[in-house]
Amino acid sequence: MNDKRNHSAAALRERLTPEQFHITQEQGTEPAFTGCYHDCKTPGTYLCICCGEELFSSTHKYDSGSGWPSFWQPAQADKVASNRDLSHGMIREEVVCANCGAHLGHVFSDGPQPTGLRYCINSASLELDADNKDD
Ligand code: FE
Repeated sequence: MNDKRNHSAAALRERLTPEQFHITQEQGTEPAFTGCYHDCKTPGTYLCICCGEELFSSTHKYDSGSGWPSFWQPAQADKVASNRDLSHGMIREEVVCANCGAHLGHVFSDGPQPTGLRYCINSASLELDADNKDD
């Protein structure tokens, strides 16, 4: 569900919180256990905070104990892209929104089956579209 909002840096800076902007546009990371979704079990779809793309589903969310929302796969394989990230003296795979390029987090290979992947995602990069809005 791509929206028609203006995704320019200036427009994003105006619409997002400073933390959301820093994390999505400057490869930031929220401190563990501080985001609004790390412990969230509400059924729904997690959208890109920047462009509204459907990135992850609560169906694939699990408690990794890391303090960040963790998923074992994206909502659809082509919704996220990854880039080799050599910052901070580590070799990691950065995960970005395939639609707008927003930084989401990283993907690690210590996740649960069936994929064995752990998408470690910042709450600040996401917006939950809950299945049942009346809850
Ligand atoms: Fe996006």
